[in-house]
Amino acid sequence: TPVIVAIDGPAGTGKSSTSKAVAAQLGLSYLDTGAQYRAITWWMVNNGIDVDDPSAVAAAAGKPEIVSGTDPEGPTITVDGVDVAGPIRTQEVSSKVSAVSAVPEVRARITELQRSIAASAAQGIVVEGRDIGTTVLPDADLKIFLTASAEARAARRSGELQGADVQSTREALIKRDAADSSRKTSPLAKADDAVEVDTTELTLAQVIECVVTLVEE
Ligand code: C5P
Repeated sequence: TPVIVAIDGPAGTGKSSTSKAVAAQLGLSYLDTGAQYRAITWWMVNNGIDVDDPSAVAAAAGKPEIVSGTDPEGPTITVDGVDVAGPIRTQEVSSKVSAVSAVPEVRARITELQRSIAASAAQGIVVEGRDIGTTVLPDADLKIFLTASAEARAARRSGELQGADVQSTREALIKRDAADSSRKTSPLAKADDAVEVDTTELTLAQVIECVVTLVEE
C-alpha cells in the first residue's frame, strides 16, 4: 500500500531539502504545501486583494487554480497555468503568506487539494508543511516534526537567500512562526504521535538518513 509521510515544522528547519531527498530515495511523490499557500498569496497580491482583509481574501479564495507537480526531482507550481516557482519566494510573498493562510476559506480549499493529491499518489508521498500530521493527513504512516534553534534556522535561510542579513532574516522567521503558531485554524503544531527531530547539530545528510530509517522501520 502507498506510504504517506508527513513532515512538519517551522521555517528554516530543512523541511523541503529533507522531504525532497527522502521522496527521491524511496521513489515517492513529493508535495510542498508551503508553495501552495505562497501561490495563492502571490495571486491575491497580483489581483489587488488586501491580504489584511480576511473577508476579501475569503471571497477570492476559490478563484485561482493551483496545480502542483509532485516529482521530487523537479517539483512545479502553477497558478492559472503560470509558472510561479520564482515569484512565490520573494520577501513580499513571505511577509504576506501567514495572513492569507490564516483565513479558514483558504485553508479549506488548499487542504482539500492536498488530500486529493495524496490520495492519487500511487507509490505514496512525502507531504511537507505545518499542519499535515495534525489536520491534513492525520492517518499518515509516519509523522516527523523538524525543529532547530532560531539561530540555525536564520543562518540556513540567509544562506539560501544568498547573503541576506542574518538578523533581519531571523526576525522575519520568528514573526512568521509566531503568526503560523497562533492562528485559530490548524496552526503550526506537532502531532501527538509525531517523531520530533532537532536538526540544529545535524547535517542535511544525517537528517535524511534519520527519516529514511524511520520510514523503513
Ligand atoms: O514552508 P514555507 O515556509 O514555504 O511556507 C510558507 C507559509 O505557508 C508558512 O509560513 C505558513 O504561513 C503557510 N503554510 C501553512 N500550512 C502549511 C504549509 C505552509 O499555513 N501546511
